[in-house]
Amino acid sequence: MVLRNAKKVRIPKGYAKIRSVKKRGNKARCPLCRSIVLGVNRKGSKTERRPSRIFGGTLCNACVTRVMTEAAKVKEEVKPLDHVKLEIKKYVEVALNKM
Ligand SMILES: [Zn+2]
Repeated sequence: MVLRNAKKVRIPKGYAKIRSVKKRGNKARCPLCRSIVLGVNRKGSKTERRPSRIFGGTLCNACVTRVMTEAAKVKEEVKPLDHVKLEIKKYVEVALNKM
């Protein structure tokens, strides 16, 4: 029998046995550019698991910069909100509420 999440484990009797192991989830990815979000841990308390800055653990650092730049432009009325790219508009609105 072939198990999907099978792994050979050496047991105390001295020989290897096939056991099924729980599969861990994938790494956190940025919803905008699909790159791996850095600074995200599985262990520790809530604040140890992800950065406490805005969009920490959700967006990658490059996209946070992009969103915050657009939010600043909208706030300073350099650019109207309707001219912000549709894919990042949702995040810009959240950033504007927190500014
Ligand atoms: Zn990104």
